[in-house]
Amino acid sequence: MGDNLRFGGRVAVITGAGNGLGRCHSSLLALRGAKVVVNDCGSSLAGEGQSSQPADNVVAEIERAGGTAIANYDTVHTREGARSIVQTAVEHFGRIDILVWNAGILIPSPLEDISDPDWRWMLGVHLDGSMFMARAAWPYFKGRGYGRLIFTSSSGAMYGQGDLAAYGAAKGGIFGFMRSLAREVGEDDLRVNAILPGAATRMVLEESSIFWDENPGLGNPAHVSALVAYLAHEQCQDNGRIYTAGAGFFARTEIMEARGIRFDHRRPVTPEQVADAWPQINDLSNVETFSDAIAHGTRIFNPA
Ligand code: NAD
Repeated sequence: MGDNLRFGGRVAVITGAGNGLGRCHSSLLALRGAKVVVNDCGSSLAGEGQSSQPADNVVAEIERAGGTAIANYDTVHTREGARSIVQTAVEHFGRIDILVWNAGILIPSPLEDISDPDWRWMLGVHLDGSMFMARAAWPYFKGRGYGRLIFTSSSGAMYGQGDLAAYGAAKGGIFGFMRSLAREVGEDDLRVNAILPGAATRMVLEESSIFWDENPGLGNPAHVSALVAYLAHEQCQDNGRIYTAGAGFFARTEIMEARGIRFDHRRPVTPEQVADAWPQINDLSNVETFSDAIAHGTRIFNPA
């Protein structure tokens, strides 16, 4: 095993890179030769406050290790902030090849206590932020016919978690956004994927600490960074996919559909028929996935 997946000549923008996962992704890509824009507005877990310190610290770490990086303190969730983050890459390093969309906040709350501002704030940072950053970088990717875009979603969206409805909604929106963007790449060597990470960062809720405390190394974010680096590399040709990584575990994760049942579409189907077929409709022993919504529609509307 060597270190042949190098990023010499590549420029990477990593958002929320002053702490946790983003810090680790930045260090790994810089170690492998990428020039890195370390973006972080230095907020609290709930998205409050601002500081240049986290991004500056990571840039200093990278430079001490012999790498090249520049800090950016803008916030991802405004059009202007996103543009400025991408501009930092273009002005200082002349291009952008890789965007790791990683910045995130967490405001846990049961549904009845979610305030309107908190709901907007969560969607703003995660979902508006994803769109603003992707839209700012897209013309550069398209212009050169090359790019790697990695979105950070969450198993909290894929599988749900109590008290995380706002977070789940925001992170779930990223799946739909990512999948649709992946269908816009055309012939370009442009790849758009998403990850579901697991690592012991300040974001992980208290109850998970039982895993990390008893198993040193389990929560190391470097496990996730290995996946991010592969998805960010030109060798990776997968597009529109979702991958899980954490604690040394790596797997493709998919939204699936059961084989289901097909009734004669020339006659009305009754609710009783649906009720009788319920076990078959729910049977996940034989599942299918689809390359895009057209493929899914072709399956549904093709009775043959
Ligand atoms: P973290 O809190 O350690 O790091 C997040 C960073 O994002 C912070 O440094 C923060 O200052 C920055 N940030 C927040 N809002 C920003 C904004 N508007 N603009 C720029 N920077 C901003 O958390 P982490 O665990 O490293 O999380 C990284 C990503 O992974 C997040 O998107 C998170 O939702 C996701 N995630 C993490 C886990 C996990 O196990 N740690 C699990 C699922 C998803």
